[in-house]
Amino acid sequence: MSYSVACSTFANMRAENDGAADSDTTSDISCEEGKPVADLVTYSLLDLYSGCGAMSTGLCLGAELAGIKLETKWAVDMNSHACESLKHNHPSTQVRNEKAEDFLSLLQQWKALCNKYVIHGSNSLASDLAQASNDDEKDENESLPKDVFEVERLVDVCYGDPNKTGKNGLWFKVRWKKYDASQDTWEPIDGLSDSYECIKEFVQSGYRDSILPLPGSVDVICGGPPCQGVSGFNRFIKPDDPLTDEKNKQLVVFMDIVNYLRPKYVLMENVVDILKFADGFLGRYALSRLVAMNYQSRLGMMVAGCYGLPQFRMRAFIWGALPSMVLPKFPLPTHDVIKRGLVPNAFSRCLVAYEETANKHLRKALVLEDAISDLPEVQNHQPNDVMEYDSDPKTEFQRYIRLSSRDMKGYSFEDATPKKGQLFDHQPLQLNNDDYARVQQIPEKKGANFRDLKGVRVGAKNTVEFNPNIPRALLSSGKPLVPDYAMSFIKGKSSKPFRRLWWDETVPTVVTRAEPHNQAILHPTQHRVLTVRENARLQGFPDYYRLFGPVKEKYIQVGNAVAVPVARALGYSLGQSLRGEFVGDQPLFKLPESFSCMGQAAATGSSVGVVEAE
Ligand code: SAH
Repeated sequence: MSYSVACSTFANMRAENDGAADSDTTSDISCEEGKPVADLVTYSLLDLYSGCGAMSTGLCLGAELAGIKLETKWAVDMNSHACESLKHNHPSTQVRNEKAEDFLSLLQQWKALCNKYVIHGSNSLASDLAQASNDDEKDENESLPKDVFEVERLVDVCYGDPNKTGKNGLWFKVRWKKYDASQDTWEPIDGLSDSYECIKEFVQSGYRDSILPLPGSVDVICGGPPCQGVSGFNRFIKPDDPLTDEKNKQLVVFMDIVNYLRPKYVLMENVVDILKFADGFLGRYALSRLVAMNYQSRLGMMVAGCYGLPQFRMRAFIWGALPSMVLPKFPLPTHDVIKRGLVPNAFSRCLVAYEETANKHLRKALVLEDAISDLPEVQNHQPNDVMEYDSDPKTEFQRYIRLSSRDMKGYSFEDATPKKGQLFDHQPLQLNNDDYARVQQIPEKKGANFRDLKGVRVGAKNTVEFNPNIPRALLSSGKPLVPDYAMSFIKGKSSKPFRRLWWDETVPTVVTRAEPHNQAILHPTQHRVLTVRENARLQGFPDYYRLFGPVKEKYIQVGNAVAVPVARALGYSLGQSLRGEFVGDQPLFKLPESFSCMGQAAATGSSVGVVEAE
């Protein structure tokens, strides 16, 4: 492999890479009159740390635009609400609500089970069958003692400790004869030694249906292993040994899963801090693991707003590709967003952007109004998670985001298409009475925040202080109108507490919390925080994408997500690579004009997010 500093790229040497992928990969995906034969092939995707599935959703949408059918076959997340959301939006995905480390152990056990019952099944079948039929006879001849139950079949498998016994192991979920699903229980494999036939049947049918991936059977792995040990807000980091920090362990687990399954492609997402903290130790670790596994790899930092969102949000992405595949390039911006935020020096060339001097032809950056101005007015207390649109889309962005899943070309989400005119999750986190009273007093103007409340004045060096000439204003509850935490936040220099967003602004970064105490998240003209749906719009989630769990959990799923348009642009790049379209060693490429979501919305017209005629 060669190493190039630009986009920290490790790639096959030129001679091998020229002319795209080797015969292995091009044979079934060559192009015929511009139409890829790859249409016939469905590529499988495993989404690790999937959250509600934004990253894989975007990847599949983008790959489709490149003529490649990519399907999220498996997803893993330890958060049950996120899993519920993913399952609803991707009904045919095998969604596993478990820890990634347990998932890896399960994969290893599953392979052994498949070897035993599927691959080598015939060798031991005769004696096993004899044993099984003996058991059957026994069953028929003897009635069971009262406290013995009979296994009807096995319905699930997991690795871990589902019964909280304090010991990890392999477990099967048992459906008991004469009982329904509500009485299913998890049983350890050792306790099922009499149920040989049931295990065999379960493994054979699970193998047929690919309920779990086996080494070599996965085309793409994507995921964002959480690395909380690098967060600026986290004080318990271990600068000397970041990988032993429990909070960074998932980076190791992610790479271990890649090592075990050996997919054709890998895409890892993370916060830019992995390139800053301890001289980019974690980012370097990720790259070096890939290279050590003989993957080509490439690192890039992408700004979400550059792909058509009113949100800045910079994230780091790392591609990995087997030596036999074409290494994906990073897609250049389509929208003109001013770069801000610190790019770590050592990786400054990895920022996915045009050279200053280039002829860019970029579209205008989007602002808040473009994204949310068509949504119905809602109150601070809004318990319904389904309502109706009350106006037509007003902008190209809104027309696109309100498209049906079918029109958005998301073949894998068709079952989840909502009824015409329905709008989901347009609910704000309900503010308590005191905060609601405070928010009602924040003026509806650009930049308004707690500094506009009675009794606050701005002193020297932009620091707030209480106006000594006015008694401290109180709410009807007796609590102060201006809370102490607002006055002391960032030593009194911040204007973020209770700040309204304004229509012409780009939001810095959508986060997982929705409290207005130390971030700008109030609606410009309504007395509430942005709703889950408004945040989802800022992250580029299609309106048809529905979220599950308590409202706080929905905010978490949205705030954790990879912005869908970014994932979609990366999916296009992946699709091009799978088709063997990329040649040369340039790390970046220009998306086609037709890629832009706006063009697509205009072409197909909206069919879900329309207001129903009375
Ligand atoms: N890529 C996702 C967002 C991922 S956020 C998207 O685009 O929507 C990270 C996720 O990792 C969270 O949903 C969290 O529940 C999950 N997670 C954290 N630790 C985990 C672990 N040990 N195993 C599995 N999932 C984990």
